[in-house]
Amino acid sequence: MANYTPPLRDMRFVYHELLGCDDLAELPGFEEFTADLIDPILEEAGKICAEVLHPINRSGDEEGCRLENGVVRTPAGFPEAYRQFREGGWTAITCDPAYGGQGLPNAADVLVTEMICSANLSFGMYPGLSHGAYLALHSHGSEELKRAYLPKLVDGTWSGTMCLTEPHCGTDLGLLRTKAEPQEDGSFRITGTKIFISAGEHDLTENIIHLVLARLPDAPKGSRGISLFVVPKFLPTSEGTPGDRNGVMCSSIEHKMGIKASATCVMNFDEAQGWLVGAPHKGLQAMFTMMNNERLAVGGQGLGIAEAAYQGSVAYARERLQGRSLTGTKAPDKPADPIIVHPDVRRMLLLQRATTEGCRAMAVWVAKELDKQERHPEPEVRKASEDFVALMTPIVKALFTDLGFENANLGMQVLGGHGYIREHGMEQHVRDARITQIYEGTNGIQALDLVGRKLGANGGRYLRRFFHPVSEYIEARAETPEMAAYVGPLAKAFGRLQTATATVAQRGLANPDEAGAAATDYMRLFGLTALGYLWARMAETAMEQTRETGDADGFYAAKQVTARFYMEKMLPQTGALLSQIMAGGQTLMSLDEAAF
Ligand SMILES: Cc1cc2nc3c(=O)[nH]c(=O)nc-3n(C[C@H](O)[C@H](O)[C@H](O)COP(=O)(O)OP(=O)(O)OC[C@H]3O[C@@H](n4cnc5c(N)ncnc54)[C@H](O)[C@@H]3O)c2cc1C
Repeated sequence: MANYTPPLRDMRFVYHELLGCDDLAELPGFEEFTADLIDPILEEAGKICAEVLHPINRSGDEEGCRLENGVVRTPAGFPEAYRQFREGGWTAITCDPAYGGQGLPNAADVLVTEMICSANLSFGMYPGLSHGAYLALHSHGSEELKRAYLPKLVDGTWSGTMCLTEPHCGTDLGLLRTKAEPQEDGSFRITGTKIFISAGEHDLTENIIHLVLARLPDAPKGSRGISLFVVPKFLPTSEGTPGDRNGVMCSSIEHKMGIKASATCVMNFDEAQGWLVGAPHKGLQAMFTMMNNERLAVGGQGLGIAEAAYQGSVAYARERLQGRSLTGTKAPDKPADPIIVHPDVRRMLLLQRATTEGCRAMAVWVAKELDKQERHPEPEVRKASEDFVALMTPIVKALFTDLGFENANLGMQVLGGHGYIREHGMEQHVRDARITQIYEGTNGIQALDLVGRKLGANGGRYLRRFFHPVSEYIEARAETPEMAAYVGPLAKAFGRLQTATATVAQRGLANPDEAGAAATDYMRLFGLTALGYLWARMAETAMEQTRETGDADGFYAAKQVTARFYMEKMLPQTGALLSQIMAGGQTLMSLDEAAF
């Protein structure tokens, strides 16, 4: 199994130099988060990821979870690792200090998430889901519910889940059947079956708090009739300790392709006692708080896998000796050259590197805007940031997870047959990465969200939050010779995105199937253009930093080479994507169902 080295140098570049996140310390509540605090936090996070979580990644995959008398046992080492993780305060880092949290900016937290997911994606599911539950309760729960649950979710002694999916109902939550019957004491009795519930049952925490979507007796049909409930595994006593067992049980766990150390549970609710979160029939809106956060976090999973796959690929490509360089022997003392000399291997490594570093920059960019949305004193700045985050959330989720899976596959190709067998851990990355494209709303659904909800909304206001800064950036550098290699390709891709946007919007109005047919290509085109913008900025920052501080370790020179690679070898894909979009959706829809 390859080692994992936290990419702290690149993280510092993105956080401090590229995106100037140190100015977040000017926002209320973030005063203490200056560079001298952020860097040690990232270092410490890197340590626990590399030293505690990564060593149990492969054993966790091999052992998996098991169900014994209704209790799920996580693999050896997981309970101890969770104890260390919790005691180190990592469950609390972005949470509200009023409930024991540390209030770290999201811009730094996404980097911590990336490291956790690189080191051990399965492990990251447990605190990840808890954080989603924390957010839903924090935003929509009554004061009483917050007091009862938030401190325990924050300190990690209790964990959380999100229970949406039912056997007949995945994407279309309007179909869900789980019932909630009101009781005289103001609580509810929840009955129904939820499937695929991550962390639904396990042995890491003393209690598990389920956030459950269900229908009240008078609920309107469809998605307008869904309410959100909090249903604890053990009912909390007045002292806040786990009391009587509630009527919720795990009846089985799934046997699946990857993330085997994350328990995926069938949960049966049998008149379980629960409490309403937020207003009746408004559960989906409340759950969206959690789902949007989870979508950004799942994007972080794609990024984490992409980085881990890249590291494994580079380490192998330096060691593996096969063939000789096309331009003459490079390692005469060895029986063959390391495969890193071959152009095709370099192509794969640079694809991995360019997408990973690009996505890291995008993750921090979006997270910084999320921080501004939550804390900026001026309402119009908060609104602008909110629009931007809404626009970019489906892109972060789908683009990062698609690229994470593609990177893991490239890693397998770099390792050849040694990638396909278990020893080096690359096949685990491929298996683990695959689910990230499916859960939290499949990537197809993310694309529909972008095209259907974000593109035309509010007279194109969401779009302007991206289009305006990019167009200003390009214009301002049109006459800067040293930026021509970056801004030229970016301008072309941006033009394609504008054409595609107008076309999809226009055709979609006349025929919604046209928008649906273009959605996935459009999202990829948007995502690649956004990465192009960030790569131009990264190249520019690298040039500026070289002028100011020199480039002793070659970091900035490597940034510029990778930026040029992105512009020359990846961004041109936007041309093909535009052609696909312009061809329209007729061929998709004209084949008779029976002919498939
Ligand atoms: C390991 C794992 C962990 C999970 N964890 C959780 C969890 O913790 N909590 C939870 O509630 N759920 C969880 N899920 C469920 C997951 O979120 C769903 O599987 C996912 O949302 C897709 O639903 P589905 O599987 O029913 O697919 P379906 O909804 O049946 O979709 C099948 C295909 O049809 C497409 N499709 C469906 N509707 C449309 C449409 N309107 N337009 C275009 N295309 C459409 C989809 O994109 C997909 O390609 C988990 C699943 C797995 C496998």
